Amino acid sequence: MTVEIGLVLDWTGQELHWHEPPGRSAGHIPDSHDLWEFLFENRGMISGFAHSHPGSGAVGPSYEDVTTFAAVEAGLGLRLDWWILNADSMVLVRWAGPDRLDYSVTPVAQVPMWADYLRRRSGMEPWEPPRVRAARSEALGKLLGDLPGADTVEGDQT
Ligand SMILES: [Zn+2]
Repeated sequence: MTVEIGLVLDWTGQELHWHEPPGRSAGHIPDSHDLWEFLFENRGMISGFAHSHPGSGAVGPSYEDVTTFAAVEAGLGLRLDWWILNADSMVLVRWAGPDRLDYSVTPVAQVPMWADYLRRRSGMEPWEPPRVRAARSEALGKLLGDLPGADTVEGDQT
C-alpha cells in the first residue's frame, strides 16, 4: 500500500521527526494537531517539511498543499522549504510572493539522504538510475537462472 507520510527537517536539512498519523491514506495527510504542536515547539530548529505523493511521473503541490503551507508559515511566522516527492521525482516548493499563495516549484537534482527512506516508508521502491536498475535486474536474473529448478524469474515490479 502506498501512503502519504511526512518528515520534519531540522535546520541542517536532516531528519527530525516522522509524521505518520493513523488514518492517513494515499494522497492525504489528515490535519494533525500533534504535527502542528511539534512544528510550533521546534520552530527555532526546523527548516522544512517533506511529504510523499503516491505514484510516479511529474510531482507538484496540490491546492490543498499550498493553502496548508501558507497557513503553517503564517502560524509559525517563518518560511519553510516544502519538499514533495513520489517514486521518481522530487520538487522543492517555496513561497515566492507577492501573494499569499504564490509558491515556486523547483525540480530537485541533488537528492537528499532521507529521500529514499521517505520513499520506502511510503511503500515505494527507492529510486535508482535506470542503468543501475537494469544492471541489478540482470544480475538477479542470472543468479535466479543459475539456481536449480529456477525456470521463472520474477520480473521488475515497476
Ligand atoms: Zn501533497
